[in-house]
Amino acid sequence: MNFPQSGGCQCGAVRYEITAPPVTVYACHCTECQTQSGTAFAMAAVIPQASFRVTQGTPQMFARKTSPTKVMECWFCPACGTRLYHVPGGAAYPNRNIKPGTLDDTSWLKPTTHFWTRSAQTWVVIPDDAVRYETQPETLPWVPTTSRGLPSVAN
Ligand SMILES: [Zn+2]
Ligand SMILES: [Zn+2]
Repeated sequence: MNFPQSGGCQCGAVRYEITAPPVTVYACHCTECQTQSGTAFAMAAVIPQASFRVTQGTPQMFARKTSPTKVMECWFCPACGTRLYHVPGGAAYPNRNIKPGTLDDTSWLKPTTHFWTRSAQTWVVIPDDAVRYETQPETLPWVPTTSRGLPSVAN
């Protein structure tokens, strides 16, 4: 896979670029992700902040409260509503969790970790070689110590 890779929203108003491969690609089967995606699960590609940039348009942000003191920044195209990336806990988070279905080339994406399998739809088949969690571990290797303990870092 060569980088940069580009992606964007459904209407084309917002475009972005990633210049490095994801730290990880995961699927989340939590009910929030089911609602947000309107489907059975959501995927995320964790991209270091320095390797992500918006190249066209201006995404807007919806702040979803994930605990009394924390929010998940959910960035989307204001024209077509396509969700583009999430920032758990706000700007201090060192990665951008992009919605990888918005990449122009999605053929290389394969989630290696599955979160919240206890709420996965019964027909979803998770590959045997995938790492699976019934819910979500307290700490994740791609989240540095300073921002650990945030709820819902997977979605
Ligand atoms: Zn759009
Ligand atoms: Zn989720």
